[in-house]
Amino acid sequence: MTKYAGKSVYKGIAMGKVLVLGKEEDMVKREKIEDADAEIVRVGNAIEKAQQQLQDLYEKAVKEVGEASAAIFEVHQMMMEDEDYLDAIHSMIRTENINAEFAVATTGDNFSEMFAAMDDDYMKARSADVKDISNRIVRNLMGKEGNDMEQSEPVIIVADDLSPSETVQMDKDKILAFVTVHGSTNSHTAILARMMNIPALIGVPMDLDKVKTGMVAVVDGVKAEVTFEPSPEECLKVTNKIKEQEEQARLLETLKGKENVTKSGRKINLYANIGSVSDVGYVLENDAGGIGLFRSEFLYLGRNDFPSEEEQFQAYKQVAQTMANKKVIIRTLDIGADKQADYFELGKEDNPAMGYRAIRICLKQQDIFKTQLRALFRATAYGKISIMYPMITSVSEVEQIYKIVDEVKKELDDAGIVYHEPEQGIMIETPAAVMISDELAKMVDFFSIGTNDLTQYTLAIDRQNAKLDDFYDSHHPAILKMIQIVVDNAHKEGKWAGICGELGADMDLTKTFVEMGLDELSVAPSMILKLRQIIREMD
Ligand code: PEP
Ligand code: MG
Repeated sequence: MTKYAGKSVYKGIAMGKVLVLGKEEDMVKREKIEDADAEIVRVGNAIEKAQQQLQDLYEKAVKEVGEASAAIFEVHQMMMEDEDYLDAIHSMIRTENINAEFAVATTGDNFSEMFAAMDDDYMKARSADVKDISNRIVRNLMGKEGNDMEQSEPVIIVADDLSPSETVQMDKDKILAFVTVHGSTNSHTAILARMMNIPALIGVPMDLDKVKTGMVAVVDGVKAEVTFEPSPEECLKVTNKIKEQEEQARLLETLKGKENVTKSGRKINLYANIGSVSDVGYVLENDAGGIGLFRSEFLYLGRNDFPSEEEQFQAYKQVAQTMANKKVIIRTLDIGADKQADYFELGKEDNPAMGYRAIRICLKQQDIFKTQLRALFRATAYGKISIMYPMITSVSEVEQIYKIVDEVKKELDDAGIVYHEPEQGIMIETPAAVMISDELAKMVDFFSIGTNDLTQYTLAIDRQNAKLDDFYDSHHPAILKMIQIVVDNAHKEGKWAGICGELGADMDLTKTFVEMGLDELSVAPSMILKLRQIIREMD
């Protein structure tokens, strides 16, 4: 038994087998391919193999548990022949030139979410099945068809460090926890862990040579500890804690469908932050009122080339449709700093956090921005989309954005493409934007405060630098005063203001935020019901 302490990013507990990362072959990765037809043939072969596996399983199950229980394998066989499912996989391979594994895994996630969001209980139950068949096809594609059980078991990821692009490519249902040697609590990888609702420890001084794939480990996000090869007594204790955790989650379940309203009647919107289309499942599962921040740049990560307009349009449309007319605030590209994609060729900078990133790239390389705006505007016809611009520091930037938006709208009008006029807002995440928020409030429909960057730029602390985690005081009075200024300036112009940085989920401040007059908090989906509970208990 070996124990290490680290810094906790999400306070949950998990126990399971370790997968030491570096074993890239175990993850589904997005890859660019040359020959789409050949990939489609690979899918066909993998499905054929899967049909045979399911037939074998069916026959075995009929003998062992009877026909009724075995019928599920027949259902799986039929689902694999579903035309919509196959069309979605094929069209993803053709339009995006991506590998079969990624296309099947993503289609599986998308269909699974779609089923999960349906009212009909029978269809809801198909959500797990479509995931299951997709996993089976992916395993066949990867040549790992041998051991069904072992391959589908979720694991604890152990790594030296994880970049946002690595994290975003992982199959989230297969991860029990993250443990890394490096990383800072405010990094995007940490944010992703929180969003996935899984225990995560960073800054763990482990000897990676001694940690082996397949070892059992316990990750305790409450105590900020990881134990490799725990004793039987330790395992028993943890099993009990996991049960308690599940019990608490069940209690929170009772808050689903209830309003976020204090005892005195003050209401606040609780929205969710997401990074990909497949996160919408978490949003619905946790009963969020909408999406307050869709970090669209994750669509650009973990790939070799820019996502096309069509690809982006499909992603935004799917989120808007799945959210069924609840608000979906999509933030335009915020690439740069820790979120790097080689094909942007951003070049090395001495100070990337203060460098060429986010709206600065969009205003300089307008073709990239216009492609995204066109996709966003087209998607407005399918739901309630709002658009939000990051890293604003001046009135002139907003003016330039509106000029480009007008050009895009004209192009769409000329082409006879229908769109709705979306709400347009900005992120307040630079001290400059706070100080001119009175002027900015006249120009936009809403403010969403990005406390992660606002803290970084106000306290002059690189959020990526783990050495500075102790100095990164997110409760600093300067930050709280700034939030109040922004809320007041928004309200003076009749606009709404929310928080979409991690501070919005800080349960020690929920009461303060309600008192400050914030209209919305957008947080990791797993925090929605916890905040609802606090708000409902407030006077
Ligand atoms: C923020 O800065 O608070 C924010 C929400 O944006 P990101 O974390 O993606 O930079
Ligand atoms: Mg930010």
